[in-house]
Amino acid sequence: MKILYKKKETLPIEELKNYQLKQINKILSKVKNTPYYKNKLPDRVESLSEFSQLSFLSKNDLRDAFPYQLLSCPKEKLVRINASSGTTGIPTLSYSTEKDLILYTENEKLHYSHTGLSSKDIIQCMIGFNLFTAGWGCYHGAMGLGASVIPSGPGNTQRQITLLKQLKANYCFSTPGYLQHLLEVISENEWKDISLKIALTGGEPLTKEFQQLAKEKYNLEIYNFYGMTEFATHIASECHMHSGLHINEDYFYPEIVDPDTNKILPVGEYGELVLTNLKREAMPLIRYRTRDITRIIPEQCPCGRTHIKIEPITHRIDDMIIINGVNIYPSQIEECIYKHLNSATNYLIHITTDKAIKKLTVDIEIQDEIINNKSKLINLEKSIVESLKASITITPKIKFIPLKTIPENRGKSKRILFE
Ligand code: AMP
Ligand code: ZN
Repeated sequence: MKILYKKKETLPIEELKNYQLKQINKILSKVKNTPYYKNKLPDRVESLSEFSQLSFLSKNDLRDAFPYQLLSCPKEKLVRINASSGTTGIPTLSYSTEKDLILYTENEKLHYSHTGLSSKDIIQCMIGFNLFTAGWGCYHGAMGLGASVIPSGPGNTQRQITLLKQLKANYCFSTPGYLQHLLEVISENEWKDISLKIALTGGEPLTKEFQQLAKEKYNLEIYNFYGMTEFATHIASECHMHSGLHINEDYFYPEIVDPDTNKILPVGEYGELVLTNLKREAMPLIRYRTRDITRIIPEQCPCGRTHIKIEPITHRIDDMIIINGVNIYPSQIEECIYKHLNSATNYLIHITTDKAIKKLTVDIEIQDEIINNKSKLINLEKSIVESLKASITITPKIKFIPLKTIPENRGKSKRILFE
């Protein structure tokens, strides 16, 4: 497949490293007057290894910098503000200037071009154009390449199927979980009227098994896209070789660090992905710890790109769980339970998958006198469900169980059972 951004994506490694160092120094001089970074970083570094000694930025730092401490330009220049779901009531923001939107478009076009998308194609975008950044990538990238975007948003499966049949999109974008659900709902007969050939998925892990099944059963080629709200745009995507995700090294400087020692790991070893913006106006992030675990694939990709490839992300360091594309920390669930019971109680979160849709059930231990009081129990259930819905945007099922039913000595990480 032709490389659309050949000059950028096949730059000889030596030149790429020089370019990255130059951009890092531009960014360092740019952020020095940002409230958060003031006096935290040097004005410049002489080498990439010197850069790798600088302090990290974490998700907690982003929360501490809420709302505008990371702003590197006058506030009047902002044209869009996105946010991820907050775990403690403070969301992670991502703000952008008009120049940033142009930079995102450049970056997204590069990623979308990996899939061969062009002005001849129609893409049904089954993710949201909302506070999160997911849908906006399609807006910038696919539209930037001249493709027709159908912003159908997530859910409402029957309407999605009708649109697919009527408007004949040959591309789609969704979470892998939703795509799986869609394929299960579409009957064999209906599939004959659907023109989908290529699906792009992101927001949560994509399994090789599903990718293979989609190819074999539906002749549907899936491209894995990786991104996060903090950066407001995609970070990495697969090329047609489907053997890892290329990071756009024109836009990001990637490092892999040992999450315990914070030391840079040799190429090929698994660790935490740390990313630095090489271009960004409103909010350049420097050495941001993604909490995502991956490794750099040592071999150069046969597609000809020199930008590094990472293994698909399958898990994170923290206890964040992703349910149908929504990020949830068990602590959010705990907060709601404790608030309504006015005390600490034992609980267990079950995550089950039904027709590719993840469902959440919370077992909560409770005293016998409440269990035996039907009306009190119904009210309690209602208020916990409502408060969880408000906090995590997912409606869970609550099961009250007698005290001491859940085996003891479950550490925090064992609060969740995947079934
Ligand atoms: P959000 O900020 O809500 O978009 O969530 C970002 C997080 O979603 C990332 O840090 C990853 O943990 C996860 N994520 C996004 N895309 C992928 C992907 N393609 N594969 C695995 N995890 C992903
Ligand atoms: Zn490649």
